[in-house]
Amino acid sequence: MKHVETICALASGPPPAALIVLRISGPACQDFLYRHVKPTPKTPRRASLVHLIDQEGEVVDEGLCLWMPGPKSYTGEDTIELTLHGGQAVLDHAMSVLMAHTDIRLAEPGEFTRRALESGSMDLTQAEAVADLIDAESAGQKQQALRQMRGAIGDQYRDWRGQVLDLMVLAESVIDFPDEEDAPKRVDEPIKQGLQRLIREFESALSDDFIGERIRSGFQIAILGAPNAGKSTLLNRLAKREAAIVSDIAGTTRDTLEVRLKLSGQLVTLVDTAGLRDTSDPIEQEGIRRAYRASDEADLSIVLLNGRAEVATRSEPGSTLFVWNKVDETGPDFDLVPDAEPGSIENPLTISGMTGKGVDTLINYLESWLTNAASATESSVITRARHRESLVDSLAHLRRALDRSSTSGVDEFVGEDLRLSARDLGCIIGDVGVEDVLGAIFSQFCIGK
Ligand code: GDP
Ligand code: MG
Repeated sequence: MKHVETICALASGPPPAALIVLRISGPACQDFLYRHVKPTPKTPRRASLVHLIDQEGEVVDEGLCLWMPGPKSYTGEDTIELTLHGGQAVLDHAMSVLMAHTDIRLAEPGEFTRRALESGSMDLTQAEAVADLIDAESAGQKQQALRQMRGAIGDQYRDWRGQVLDLMVLAESVIDFPDEEDAPKRVDEPIKQGLQRLIREFESALSDDFIGERIRSGFQIAILGAPNAGKSTLLNRLAKREAAIVSDIAGTTRDTLEVRLKLSGQLVTLVDTAGLRDTSDPIEQEGIRRAYRASDEADLSIVLLNGRAEVATRSEPGSTLFVWNKVDETGPDFDLVPDAEPGSIENPLTISGMTGKGVDTLINYLESWLTNAASATESSVITRARHRESLVDSLAHLRRALDRSSTSGVDEFVGEDLRLSARDLGCIIGDVGVEDVLGAIFSQFCIGK
């Protein structure tokens, strides 16, 4: 798609800063260079020391200019990147020069990347990865975004789509020439086998424990237990700050409280909850309801025991870590099973949130749990709900095609399901039918990217 409008934006963080970067993309770039950048850079993709000149011939600033003629640029169009001194007055003056140019306007959020997508230099999963990379806070998020930006995820969907299209061509060979001797027999088996193989691959991709999405949004760890078990004290110790109020008055924490931290290169949201007990106080009851919800939504629940192990019963096995707190006062008041898995109900970790005893072991446990949970990421091809929905839809069409070809043989309904299955895969990489999702995706971008 050829754009007639030229867009510009501040691509760096705002002033005051050592430097700012202004980005311009579109057909007016050459004209802008000629009028406002002195000396006009001659060599593409080389930094040159220039003056930015305003309409009256005044120097706006001295800086570096990168001139990147299309199509070898991020957007595929003529592009200029100006690096200037990062003061507010410099930025204001430079923007006024840009805005005074009749063919240049401010870019919308994500518009540079949208143009890159439209020029075909990246697919939609790569465009999403650019946004993820900018938003990445943890090493895990960054690693996943980089892998996706390099095309690892898009390549898999393109490959699957190619295979579905091959099956469709095969199916159509029977549909279009039904009279050919033996034709149905010859293609029915290969089509069924191809469908079965793809169905298995899609199913295995979908049973990924939502790892890609969890790395993107961060892992959630909830701390549960009876009132005064020391949940808020432990949260503060893990967060290394006084995020939650600690007191010996039971029922102090009435709402859930979240702190974000990084453990093992992953973003973690730690959730402190209201103490679980029977109460007639409606506000505390609501707090307890929220505590259970936090535990249901959590990837891992830490249950602080205080002789009240029953609070844990709602948690799934394997996603609950049992911890005996206040070991500085007393150890567990029940018989331990030393051979049992550390962190199980029979053999809880023992800590003192107050003195810090045993907390390192708890952190080690959390880190290895996270490393283990994130280890599946290399093979995961789903990082957003959008990918999952389309893959589920695509799989449903493959299953229908397989059912149909098993009962009625390969006919035009099988062909149609294969077409729909390929279309769903095309949606993920942005090849087809995505106009409506593009707006939603790019509105989450920052301006200048
Ligand atoms: P929560 O209700 O579970 O959030 O418990 P708090 O963190 O507010 O702590 C309740 C009380 O227990 C406070 O007086 C804390 O100082 C105390 N406490 C918390 N952790 C420990 C611990 O490891 N050892 C001892 N001795 N007291 C603790
Ligand atoms: Mg508390």
